[in-house]
Amino acid sequence: MRFPLGLTAKIARHIIKHKLRKTPKFALVLQLEPLHTCNLTCTGCGRIREYSTSLKDMMSLEDCLGSADECDAPMVSICGGEPLIYPKIEELIAGILEQGRIVYVCTNGMFMRKKMRDYMASIYSPELEAKLSKLLAEKLISEKDAEGIRKGKSDGRPVIGPTKWMYWNVHVDGLEYTHDLIVEREGVFKECVEAIKMAKILGYQVATNTTVYKETDVKEIEQMFEFFSSMEVDGHTISPGYEYDAAKKDMVSRLNKQPEDFFLTRKMTRQKFAKIQEWGERFTIFGTPVYQEFLAGKRELTCTAWAIPTRNVKGWKAPCYLMTDGHYPKYAEMLEKVDWEKYGVVDGVARDSRCENCMVHCGYDPSGALGTNYQRGDNWKNFRYNFGAKPKPYLKGREVFAFNGTSIGKGHLAEAKAAINSPRAAMNGAQSVFSRKEESHTHETSGGCGSGDTTQRDELLSKIAKKDV
Ligand code: SF4
Ligand code: SF4
Repeated sequence: MRFPLGLTAKIARHIIKHKLRKTPKFALVLQLEPLHTCNLTCTGCGRIREYSTSLKDMMSLEDCLGSADECDAPMVSICGGEPLIYPKIEELIAGILEQGRIVYVCTNGMFMRKKMRDYMASIYSPELEAKLSKLLAEKLISEKDAEGIRKGKSDGRPVIGPTKWMYWNVHVDGLEYTHDLIVEREGVFKECVEAIKMAKILGYQVATNTTVYKETDVKEIEQMFEFFSSMEVDGHTISPGYEYDAAKKDMVSRLNKQPEDFFLTRKMTRQKFAKIQEWGERFTIFGTPVYQEFLAGKRELTCTAWAIPTRNVKGWKAPCYLMTDGHYPKYAEMLEKVDWEKYGVVDGVARDSRCENCMVHCGYDPSGALGTNYQRGDNWKNFRYNFGAKPKPYLKGREVFAFNGTSIGKGHLAEAKAAINSPRAAMNGAQSVFSRKEESHTHETSGGCGSGDTTQRDELLSKIAKKDV
């Protein structure tokens, strides 16, 4: 099966239950943001900027667990910020699993290995030595780490262990060069790859999480899927990024520029996702085939943002993960008080101008699962996709030139930044980066788990792509 039976059955049961009860609106996935603090400052990250005044604030554990209970979504995506910074992340994951929900931990990957070492320490016995040897041989842990693991763990706190009900959902927006540039730190892609390798050795389920932006090179995204498929990653989430800043409308009129000059329009999204259905056959792409048809421009869907609600330090964020028109203390109150008819795009017409170019998964993927714009055969399509055979690992993906940054032998980020900031620097050194890049293919990718204002990212990457430095 493409996805584990237990998970698919749990979600299907939830939908059927509410359909039978004729519940008008209900939650499928809770986007839980226990804090907005992050160890990275990715270019253009919406979250750490929109909530910059509350970076030190965080939700209490009780509030987090209460929110999951309150909306009763079968899946909880713990995001942020970086959720592994949350001081009670272990208790939070354990608590949500105890509630019988599926957990996605959306992480930038930097603390995963530490959390997995904690897990190993908590279960250490001599039988674990074979795994330790493998991890040591692959340089995924050091001798010092191994000693720490052998000492065990006795602080009484829970750990994040492998279970079929949890996925690490690792943020990667391209191969090494692009990803490190976007997250503004060298070595992050390498750390993600090592964390994923370690997770697979230890039996965790791992997914990758990618946002596609205006400058994203879809060829690179395909290579990224091939690379991670060869590592037997369990699935991929992919969604278009999105611009909703109404000020850009002004720019159109004042600067006489076309929207496609500076942000991802629906038309461009459809071009970028033209091959999504083919990817869905080759790789384990999460989401419904109906949503994939929508992304590929083969049908329309109506936004169901209420089905993937966001809860953060300020409350239930309305109307969606991306736009903030208010926060509500209760999910039920948000459902009742928000005029949902004001939002989304219906039959190609935007009900709110800010929604005009939005096709993001948190607005439209549930529409595919809930049958909002049902067409004959949709149920069968969804059934066949979910219960069909899982795509085989693409072993040739091991040949992908994934480490296309450090392989130039120098700090690739410094050179790239120098090239962007100074034409002279480009002449004096940074050019080697671009020369090397051109030998493989053009990289224009951008994105991030923040899914906020994409302008900075797009500008940054378009400069590189065009060598406009
Ligand atoms: S995009 Fe994600 S990893 Fe990057 S700064 Fe924002 S929250 Fe952190
Ligand atoms: S279409 Fe839906 S998900 Fe997209 S911005 Fe509008 S309300 Fe949010």
